[in-house]
Amino acid sequence: MKKFAIPIVLLAITVLVLHFLFVDYNHANETVYFGGPILTMSDAQPTVEAIYVKNGKILAAGTKAEVMAAKSRRAKLADLQGKTLMPGFFDAHGHLDLATALYGMTDISGFTHRTPEGVWKAVAQKVKTTPKGEWIFCLGYDPILTKGLEPPSKAFLDSLAPENPVVLIAQTLHSYYANSMAFKSAGITDQTPDPSSSSYYERDSSGQLTGLIVEQAAFEPFRVVMQEKLMESFVENTQKVLVKNAQKGITSTVTMGLMTVNRNILMLYQDLSGEKVKPLHNLIRITGAFPERKPNLRHFVFLSERFSGYLPKPKKRGDDFFRIMGVKLWYDGSPYIGSMYMSKPYLASRYNLEAIHLPPGHRGEALIQPEQLEAAIRKYQSGDWQVAIHCQGDRAIAEALGAFAKVHQDAPINGRRHRLEHLLMLPYDHIASMQEMGISPSFHINHILYYGDFLQSDILGPERTQQLLPVNQFAAKQMPFSLHADQPMYEADPLSLVRTAVIRQSESGLAINPTEAVSVWEALKSITIYAAWQLKMESKLGTLEKGKYADLVVLDKNPLEVPARALASIKVLETIIAGNTVWKK
Ligand SMILES: [Zn+2]
Ligand SMILES: [Zn+2]
Repeated sequence: MKKFAIPIVLLAITVLVLHFLFVDYNHANETVYFGGPILTMSDAQPTVEAIYVKNGKILAAGTKAEVMAAKSRRAKLADLQGKTLMPGFFDAHGHLDLATALYGMTDISGFTHRTPEGVWKAVAQKVKTTPKGEWIFCLGYDPILTKGLEPPSKAFLDSLAPENPVVLIAQTLHSYYANSMAFKSAGITDQTPDPSSSSYYERDSSGQLTGLIVEQAAFEPFRVVMQEKLMESFVENTQKVLVKNAQKGITSTVTMGLMTVNRNILMLYQDLSGEKVKPLHNLIRITGAFPERKPNLRHFVFLSERFSGYLPKPKKRGDDFFRIMGVKLWYDGSPYIGSMYMSKPYLASRYNLEAIHLPPGHRGEALIQPEQLEAAIRKYQSGDWQVAIHCQGDRAIAEALGAFAKVHQDAPINGRRHRLEHLLMLPYDHIASMQEMGISPSFHINHILYYGDFLQSDILGPERTQQLLPVNQFAAKQMPFSLHADQPMYEADPLSLVRTAVIRQSESGLAINPTEAVSVWEALKSITIYAAWQLKMESKLGTLEKGKYADLVVLDKNPLEVPARALASIKVLETIIAGNTVWKK
């Protein structure tokens, strides 16, 4: 008897350990949805009466009678009671890492504060409640929405916060202001060389730092501090941002240019979204570093180019729930700080000349050489990665397309699904070449809603503003395109993007290039099936059809039936990913 005891104990331990290593949330589910409008987002059959979901996938879609005949006896019946069911939304271009880093920072945005006094009061209040010496990061500095907000000098920030390092982050995320203690703590002095002519520490005529930091390379020492500080609550805040996005109906999120890359973050993202648990992750979970597993948003990641060393081997790219897609490059910057690269100069407005000190005739510049861009496209394409390029200005877009065209000559790019991001000033005469090379656009459409008036009055003038964001050039031909909020620049809210694409008006009601308005149906496709196509997931996601994953949203109203203006006030009642509810009102 005794000689069997040891093997039995060993066996029991092995079983326990294996169970522990592979233990995961319950993926099983079996439900029939019926009783409300069901929009499939498939042109072939736009609506059905019912769908049957089992083990995360749609097993039947059609008339109620057909679906009821197909279901098993165990299936739960979910009566929509008149509510609308449709595919879950895609956040086609966001920055989960940045949104996480900025989560819980002091809000100084123009969305919250309409007067300069309000902004400075918010900073002063934060200083008052923060221990001496501790860093303070404030988010959303925006002289456009907060009328009359003047750029703060270093001395002014010192007067607000004499004993804390303070950094203000612009709403555009392309410029920053810091006080003396922040510069000192980050090791930046009057003598520190600028990283480049397009990313620098502004200095006055006597060579002293003014407080303004332009673009990412110069901000790097501050970003490192910010990251250290935020790593403490990184996991918790990542989850909070994901839940916030699920509340807006998002079932798939795309991080477009992961900046805070290290192996741990990629492992965390994999653990949060991945289809199945990894044994190693369950070991890490014992330490408390990873949270308990639960169903979560799908996550598709483009690494920013400087972290391309983290691109995995082909077999480790991920699964349908978490996947590394490729690389994002920045070819120009933002329209609001002079770093958008255009063929003609910025408007000679007071804002451009006096508030952000652009030299007359300034038209921005490329952040990298076209040859560098071409070489990068070649390199990543040969590794079968998708390439996405940030370009806003007409000149940036033309040069980026020129780089693609050169690669296309000897290594065709059709079918690669490379992308251009933002495309504020996409020139009409370059659309044909995008279509020819199969390069799809992701439009930063809510520039119209929030900054439409300002683009017209201060940045570009009426003629150029009335050419912006030609979305219908794609929608009319049913060519895939997506819309994005660029979270954290704007809150990720897909239905707000749909509304703007349909009505094309600013908050004040100014119409911006209204001939490029799209139908509600096409706009909804851009946040579902078209966005899925951009991720090469159109056979598995984006419509409600037999065999696809059951990624669903329940809405209180049918977007096809409300007035266009009311699209953004439709409420998301439930968000479901692979049959599992991730959020419910
Ligand atoms: Zn971008
Ligand atoms: Zn972005």
